[in-house]
Amino acid sequence: MTDNPDEMAVHALPQEEALRRVGSSSTGIETQEAERRLATYGPNRLVAAPRRGALVRFLAQFHNVLIYVLIASAIVTAFLQHWIDTGVIVAVVLGNSIVGFLQEGRAEDAMNAIRGMLAPRAAVLRDGRRTSVDASDLVPGDVVLIEAGDRVPADVRLLEARSLKLEEAALTGESVPVDKSADPVAIDAALGDRSCMLYSGTLVAAGTGRGVVVATGMVTEIGKISGMLDRVETLSTPLVQQMDVFARWLTLFILIIAALLLAYGLVVEELPFVELFMIIVGLSVAAIPEGLPAVMTITLAVGVQAMARRKAIVRRLPAIETLGSVSVICTDKTGTLTRNEMVVADLVASRHVYSVDGEGYSPEGAIRWNDADADPTEHAVLAEFARAAGLCNDAVLHSADGAWRVEGDPMEGALMALAGKITGDGGDPFTAGWTRIDAIPFDAAHRYMAVLHLDGDGRRHVHVKGAPEAVLALCAAQRMPDGETAVLDMPYWEQMVERLAAEGQRVLAVAVGVPPNGEQQLMQDHLSGSLTLIGLVGLIDPPRPEAIAAVADCHLAGIRVKMITGDHAATARAIAAMIGLKNCERVLTGADIDRLDDATLSLAASETDIFARTSPAHKLRLVTALQSQGLTVAMTGDGVNDAPALKRADAGIAMGVKGSEAAKEAADLVLADDNFASIAAAVREGRTVYDNIKKVISWTLPTNAGEAATIIIALFVGLALPVTAVQILWINLVTAITLGLALAFEPSEEGTMRRPPRRRDEPLLTAELIWHVCLVSLLFAAAVFGIFFYALDKGHSIELARTMAMNTLVVMEIFHVFFIRNIYGTSLTWRAVRGTKVVWICVISVTIAQFAVTYLPFMRSLFGTESVPLFEGVLIFAIGWVFFALVEIEKQMRLTLRKRG
Ligand code: ATP
Repeated sequence: MTDNPDEMAVHALPQEEALRRVGSSSTGIETQEAERRLATYGPNRLVAAPRRGALVRFLAQFHNVLIYVLIASAIVTAFLQHWIDTGVIVAVVLGNSIVGFLQEGRAEDAMNAIRGMLAPRAAVLRDGRRTSVDASDLVPGDVVLIEAGDRVPADVRLLEARSLKLEEAALTGESVPVDKSADPVAIDAALGDRSCMLYSGTLVAAGTGRGVVVATGMVTEIGKISGMLDRVETLSTPLVQQMDVFARWLTLFILIIAALLLAYGLVVEELPFVELFMIIVGLSVAAIPEGLPAVMTITLAVGVQAMARRKAIVRRLPAIETLGSVSVICTDKTGTLTRNEMVVADLVASRHVYSVDGEGYSPEGAIRWNDADADPTEHAVLAEFARAAGLCNDAVLHSADGAWRVEGDPMEGALMALAGKITGDGGDPFTAGWTRIDAIPFDAAHRYMAVLHLDGDGRRHVHVKGAPEAVLALCAAQRMPDGETAVLDMPYWEQMVERLAAEGQRVLAVAVGVPPNGEQQLMQDHLSGSLTLIGLVGLIDPPRPEAIAAVADCHLAGIRVKMITGDHAATARAIAAMIGLKNCERVLTGADIDRLDDATLSLAASETDIFARTSPAHKLRLVTALQSQGLTVAMTGDGVNDAPALKRADAGIAMGVKGSEAAKEAADLVLADDNFASIAAAVREGRTVYDNIKKVISWTLPTNAGEAATIIIALFVGLALPVTAVQILWINLVTAITLGLALAFEPSEEGTMRRPPRRRDEPLLTAELIWHVCLVSLLFAAAVFGIFFYALDKGHSIELARTMAMNTLVVMEIFHVFFIRNIYGTSLTWRAVRGTKVVWICVISVTIAQFAVTYLPFMRSLFGTESVPLFEGVLIFAIGWVFFALVEIEKQMRLTLRKRG
């Protein structure tokens, strides 16, 4: 056996020969053998893109206009031999870069770990049984099962293909899906023409197939071409980019102001150049929000991790922001609002209604009729139910530690369990010796699955299961209790479907037929009118309790929840009522949607919360319709055909468990547990991240502007500087990377899910934020000048006055952090005062630094400070409180006015 499929040219070999070449059989290989091969061939993975080296990542931290200005200032101050200033500026730059470097590293690790959570899995036959393994554990010789929506996990030689179509753009650039079949092709066929081969990384657009792995990892075709596929994702979003641009313009603005001030000081006030220059450097450093980009990135990274803990995995970072503004969530029903743990509860035949006992997927439980056990020998139709349920089925049940698990579709698992309950302990008397020769896989477009079997006597039978309307449309007759057939009693069946569906049951119809003579293949056209209905199967799929709570949360948060399901209207309505959706009386079906033009649909869509019997194409129209109403739409999806709607939605959300690779790749967010509650949690986190970014900005800008205003006022009015340039530098050094950073880790505010969604086009720098910047800057300047002149008035030295002014500034910055933590509520609650660990670590660090610079003799001589007496210290603290009280009162007034307005 060799590694290289080209050398083996398996595409030119018949199936059996191809299997032999890779040392396998049609039932795959044994687990032990797979382990041995894994050790030989290595994991089925492409070599990851090398990560940027640590040095490069560290140096990249300096690549920022804000930092350039600081470095230039450091060089000039060094030139002027103002070593302390140089030292502090260098410390500011290094401090920022080190924090940025460490946090970015952590963020990248977190992103990688999260990507690891999305590792694809593959359905494979091991020890002759279907099981699911990590795609990276596949080895040559494994027989894999492929279905629509999968990404092909390795290079595979097909053994069997049903309506299989592959999108091979990743490999050949050809975007139109190509047909695949198991027949060998010419040995010299080009890659794109090898119709019996599936290549790793390509996407299954339709159909199902089974094939044997012939190459894995780097020896696959895609591995040979690219060597690596890993994209290095940058930690950025539109908001961060917007702030980056803003920060750049701000720097330019500051530089121009600085130049004007320099000219003004030299020409009008005739100040000595060196002194003036140092003041200007202090001003620039004070005004430049150098920490902002790093802190915003960290805020995002913290958000990504918080979402991952809540089972929502972010695939595209901008989604974090969008999620915060979501106003409508369109969700699937099965598995998201419900548990997707199905159990058959009722069977409806032409004359009898049976109830089915039992729990979970265990194939044990009685079939009852009229409160007594129904004997399959007396109720012959039960055998037909068992046969249809068992044959028209791709799922497998496993029992481990007394619990039954299903491999495959849970609904089919429930049908397998039903077949087991009917056959009892007697093995498989109804289907022994039957072999499948063809199948039409389930597809949401036609809503049924059909299989063609040869029985032990060589006769052919068709079995169909699917949505009642779809199956009834194919039937002309119905099975009677005596085994005879009669004309289909449509009103009876329709009434029974409604009855089961009204209880919230998912209803399937099952039918049987005999194909036209000699037919070896199933054709959709041939089914019509040829089938005999066996009966209806009613399945229960209970709602998830946590989804009920999450839907209520969303309603409180002003978010409309809409259910878009492929299920029957009555089932959808019953489940919607159990879940607590609004407006349960009104249901729009796929057929209704088809009849509406875009304008009417857009109105109807916003007023309706339940959409039933929809197909993926309807989802796309619904997203567009809702968006045209100005709504920000989150949409869930799992199937291959959901990809366009997921891409179109503002936040596309794919199911991690039952979702296809195609849906996951089209989505912005993947739910690790398929649970609606995780969507609500993600929205909450999205809102929190947006708030935190806003908080970081709301804290940083006034702080910088306040410091700058102090210097500018002093210069213009010709006063002595209340805080020297080097002291301003010091403040920046100790606060920017501590207090500002603390806000990145803020938890959600209490009312986060009790306010309406933010408008999508709301600018980051709102009038309110600009007002806050002005107000706080003025208060900062007033307090600094106030305490400075108070100290001078009291006869203190100018050094002590400056030390007091500097400490006042820092104390106010600390109080400002506590104020900013609650922009939507009051800061005067125990929860608010208690803060978080990060906040207190930062506050304590800053306080220690301030005590050091105020009281340590060597620091005092470096920074020109003096010890502050106790009374003055208390006064400084009191000023902090007054500042806090003022801004808090102003906020409460604003909040009250807004509520009234
Ligand atoms: P949602 O997840 O949005 O609730 P759904 O799973 O109910 O969607 P589909 O998967 O499109 O929607 O199924 C639509 C209908 O098709 C189901 O109500 C059922 O009657 C039928 N159906 C679903 N799966 C199968 C299957 N594997 N074989 C046959 N019929 C099926």
